[in-house]
Amino acid sequence: MGEALLLGVLAIASLSYFAWKVRRRLAGLTKAPGELRFDHLGARLERVFTEVLLQSRVIRDRPLAGVLHALVMWGFLAFGWVSMEHLAVGFAGLESASADDSWYGGFAAAWAALVMVGIVGLAVRRFVFQPRALGKVSAGSGIVAALIVALMATYLAGWGGFDPGSVLWRINWRLHTLALFAMLWVIPNSKHLHLFLGPFNVFFRGSDLTSPTRALREDDDDDLGLAAFADLSKKDILDLNSCVECGRCMDVCPANQTGGSLNPKEVILQLQRGLLSGAGSDAQLAGTAAEVQAGEAWIAEDDLFQCLTCGACEQACPVGIEHVGAKIIDLRRGLVSEGRTNSDKLADLFRTMERSPHNAWGAPQQTRTKLIESGPFPIYDGSKEWLLWLGCGCSYDAHGHDVARAMAKLLDAAGATWGVLQRETCCGDLARRTGNEYLYMEMSEKAMASILEADAKKVVTCDPHCCSTFTADYEQNEQWRNAGIEVLHHTELLDRLSPRLSLASVAQGSTTYHDPCYLARGRGVTKEPRRLLESAGVPVAEMEQREMRTSCCGAGGGQLFIADDSKGADQPRVNHSRFEQAMKTGATTVAVACPYCAIMLDDAAGHANRKDVQIVDIAELLASRLTG
Ligand code: SF4
Ligand code: SF4
Repeated sequence: MGEALLLGVLAIASLSYFAWKVRRRLAGLTKAPGELRFDHLGARLERVFTEVLLQSRVIRDRPLAGVLHALVMWGFLAFGWVSMEHLAVGFAGLESASADDSWYGGFAAAWAALVMVGIVGLAVRRFVFQPRALGKVSAGSGIVAALIVALMATYLAGWGGFDPGSVLWRINWRLHTLALFAMLWVIPNSKHLHLFLGPFNVFFRGSDLTSPTRALREDDDDDLGLAAFADLSKKDILDLNSCVECGRCMDVCPANQTGGSLNPKEVILQLQRGLLSGAGSDAQLAGTAAEVQAGEAWIAEDDLFQCLTCGACEQACPVGIEHVGAKIIDLRRGLVSEGRTNSDKLADLFRTMERSPHNAWGAPQQTRTKLIESGPFPIYDGSKEWLLWLGCGCSYDAHGHDVARAMAKLLDAAGATWGVLQRETCCGDLARRTGNEYLYMEMSEKAMASILEADAKKVVTCDPHCCSTFTADYEQNEQWRNAGIEVLHHTELLDRLSPRLSLASVAQGSTTYHDPCYLARGRGVTKEPRRLLESAGVPVAEMEQREMRTSCCGAGGGQLFIADDSKGADQPRVNHSRFEQAMKTGATTVAVACPYCAIMLDDAAGHANRKDVQIVDIAELLASRLTG
């Protein structure tokens, strides 16, 4: 009786502490702005099933460590019932215990052995090999590993070792109970809180694509972006408490892997530290490196503005943390809106974009006018099916002009009716991704108005950045949403039109395809470009980093214009690194589907002195094979 009472007190104290601590860690969640998402319930539940229960993401990127982690996780599930039974014996009185010869006892024993294998393997990796991505060794990891080993060892000893009711069996039972309750005291104070929050965070993740930049709250004049702790949304608070500190995001971050100081894991952990430190709701999140050092801010501006907004971190994160639109871009917006950025390059970029005709090159409108007057570019008049949106890349860059001409040829060859606008304004992608919301509003309103006034119902563009802005960003505008405009990337439209294209089979040296981040992770388009290359008889030598796990060309998030040139000539750059990955396939042609990727990879080919390597857009490649 006395033992049952003690057990009851221990259970209530442990569960109460756990609940109190979790409540403290999630304090502010209910009052935080934004809503947790319950739409597409089926897809969300399916994601939880594959990513959490089947551990698909965990295993995909790190097969060995992933399988070891999965063994521990699945073992925990198997142990849910065992733990209930274990406590029930305690409440009923240890003298009532009998040998467990049920099939479930044996099943749990097998899992206990597998969990031991998993946890010992993970501990060796953590404490012996110490991979850089995991960061400094922490006492918490050691304590949890020891508790899990203790739980499994005592279960095995109780199940098949000691006689039920014997002194040794009783001591063993008590040790198992203490280890079980100790977990409730340790978990909420460590990264292991992900055991409870991870499944919810995966469920509430926006989608499988890179998180978009949110619309500012219309009912809150003070909302200028993510500037202070009070601006963290409900999902942000869940994100910050769910991080496993696995460093998968850091491992795939092209900025970090080429020597940059940006580390997406540290962005999340710094915000978490600030949140848990009890920093006031008005405390600023980002600032200069000096402000971070002085404890007046948590994330350095320099780090934020190295981000390529490529989305690789989100794609790698096993617990559904949204780093990009929801944090990094929003933090940039907070800084820019409050006039707290110190980058001359950024200031130059904004000045250039503010000048008419609002492109980042500062090129005159005549550059585009000359293009449409020189080639077969009919003006869109509402009677045509497709509006070909050139975007800044195809309007002001010389290679972009070639891509635009190739696309025009292909549309004509497929018998499509199409036209371009007489004038275009930048869609605003660059302004929004670099945090200049005011400029984005100005540009996007002009661009939206020009398309709506032209009464276009179908828009196609060769630029995945424009494509993403027309969908993820413009969909936040009611008028645009109601217009129901279909927006496609040119590879999607050409894929539809390909049966109407007559293409000659031309012998071609080895070709690889670089997936643009905004097309693959931003839009989920990976099959169409490959089908097109196949239809043109071009076999693709694939890179290791491809499709949803592609690696950035180095241009995104404004880096084409604001990347820091202070790196020495021998230091790696993102575009050089991506070009090297392409060259590992032995290809002499790199097919691309974005004008920015073409610029960056062209530059890298020049740097590597590879004049024999061609960087071509898929539209150019197809147009060069048109017959008739
Ligand atoms: S979006 Fe890309 S560059 Fe930015 S933090 Fe994530 S992985 Fe790094
Ligand atoms: S943010 Fe995600 S991927 Fe990065 S360390 Fe945390 S859990 Fe791992």
